[in-house]
Amino acid sequence: MKEFNIAVMHGDGIGVEIVNASLEVLEKIGEKYNVKFNTKNALLGGAAIDATGIPLPEETIKICKESDAVILGSVGGPKWDSLPGAKRPEKALLGIREALGLYANLRPAKVYEALKDACPLKDSIVNEGVDLLVVRELTGGIYFGERGRVKKDVDSAYDTESYDVNEIKRIAHVAFKSARQRRGKVTLVDKANVLESSRLWREVVNEIHKEYTDVELEFMYVDNAAMQLVRKPSQFDVVLTNNIFGDILSDEASMITGSIGMLPSASVREDSFGMYEPIHGSAPDIAGKDIANPLAQILSVAMMLRYSLDMKEAAEDIERAVEKVLKDGYRTADIYAEGMKKVGTKEMGELVVSKL
Ligand code: NAD
Repeated sequence: MKEFNIAVMHGDGIGVEIVNASLEVLEKIGEKYNVKFNTKNALLGGAAIDATGIPLPEETIKICKESDAVILGSVGGPKWDSLPGAKRPEKALLGIREALGLYANLRPAKVYEALKDACPLKDSIVNEGVDLLVVRELTGGIYFGERGRVKKDVDSAYDTESYDVNEIKRIAHVAFKSARQRRGKVTLVDKANVLESSRLWREVVNEIHKEYTDVELEFMYVDNAAMQLVRKPSQFDVVLTNNIFGDILSDEASMITGSIGMLPSASVREDSFGMYEPIHGSAPDIAGKDIANPLAQILSVAMMLRYSLDMKEAAEDIERAVEKVLKDGYRTADIYAEGMKKVGTKEMGELVVSKL
């Protein structure tokens, strides 16, 4: 029997409830596909502060490093809001990504047939289908480049966008491999008509493309991409881009889907290891009430199966189960509409399990 070690960080707030719901789904997948998932809990964020005094204990990094993949809920909450920046739960998020060398952020945006009304775009656009994946570089570019203030006659400030060939190569591989698991198309989004760094991205991505001739590659300027995302999102499969453009476009793409409780994400590196978490936070306003939507967390588990554990079929199985539950009219409070059946976190998880 195949075995995988999975580190599990519930985190804070609704993280605890939604991760528990997703673990039931994982258990069912284990039974169905004859795979053993050895899960090990690790502390992160506020939960870690309460137990150890710091948001990211060494023990947590060790447990993650010894695993094949990591499941994360969400961290933070009012209880820790008065702590100084470096000691806050959210600090652990950057820290754990850095410690694990996770430089690529994968954020899918998909509009579910049953939730089409939540999408702010016109029916004629949505009906063509919205199912894309933003692959964003996470540890380089202008957010990490040299910056400063210059005091002359008039004060000025600068930030620097800089990438080296290796940084671009490694994320290009992630994008092309992801496209192979999807519909086989990569769109590199850049500003190559103006920026030298973008021109380097094009050169390098073109070169790496030679190893993935089965995948289609196209180029698009970022201003046009921002427009095309709302004009004709169906044209996109994998959108590959740098840190700053990815930051902006992934938020735009997630808005198109209309529901924060439905969107998973992954932070990965070249060797298929990754950390999987919903895009939303710990929602302290609804924590502990069994009303949070666990689907983003459950879909994060599906992403883990696809990208880290090479279990594409099982991933699709979960995605289909989620679609069936929605089609049957079950909704948590955040996506509830009149005439539907309102369910809580736990029940939503159980419904997904029942469809597997
Ligand atoms: P949030 O995403 O936690 O919540 C925003 C709104 O969406 C709230 O009204 C919340 O109830 C709702 N919501 C979020 N997820 C939901 C779900 N699964 N089901 C139903 N409703 C859901 O953002 P926030 O309120 O700005 O932040 C709360 C805390 O989370 C803060 O401490 C923040 O720093 C932290 N945070 C953590 C992460 C992370 O762990 N990756 C990300 C963002 C924010």
